[in-house]
Amino acid sequence: MEGENLIKGKGKVDIIQMDGFDFAFNPSACDLCSGSCCCGESGNVWVSQQEMSRISEVLRMNCIDFMEKYLHRVGNWFSCKERVTGHGLECIFFQGIEKKCSIYAVRPAGCRTYPFWDHFKTCSEQVGKECPGIVVRIKNS
Ligand code: SF4
Ligand code: SF4
Repeated sequence: MEGENLIKGKGKVDIIQMDGFDFAFNPSACDLCSGSCCCGESGNVWVSQQEMSRISEVLRMNCIDFMEKYLHRVGNWFSCKERVTGHGLECIFFQGIEKKCSIYAVRPAGCRTYPFWDHFKTCSEQVGKECPGIVVRIKNS
């Protein structure tokens, strides 16, 4: 990520800091998390045309079939469909049993850049509530 600053943990974890954000992120939290950023409340996961091509290629589908099966239109944009579960909604690409993304290597940009979204620059409390990987930013590092 642009502006990314890795803080080396003691031989284990890299904490990620980004310019302009008053929080840092510990990616190792994802190992124990049940995927809060992929399920729960409804939300849009935007997929660009380039991403559609890449994901459909990986899934060995033609782009039209891929769009019909996995995306829905929101105005001029396309977002991942969601499925209803016993505990809310989840992204159609989320594998609930294994708690992981089925297209992780080619996931959309919004998923790659989470939790460093511009929106969270001014409301870090919100992302802190949904993502257990949010940690207090280490000053002067
Ligand atoms: S909510 Fe945070 S810790 Fe959990 S999977 Fe998403 S990025 Fe990782
Ligand atoms: S595409 Fe993958 S990483 Fe992104 S919200 Fe869906 S399951 Fe999560």
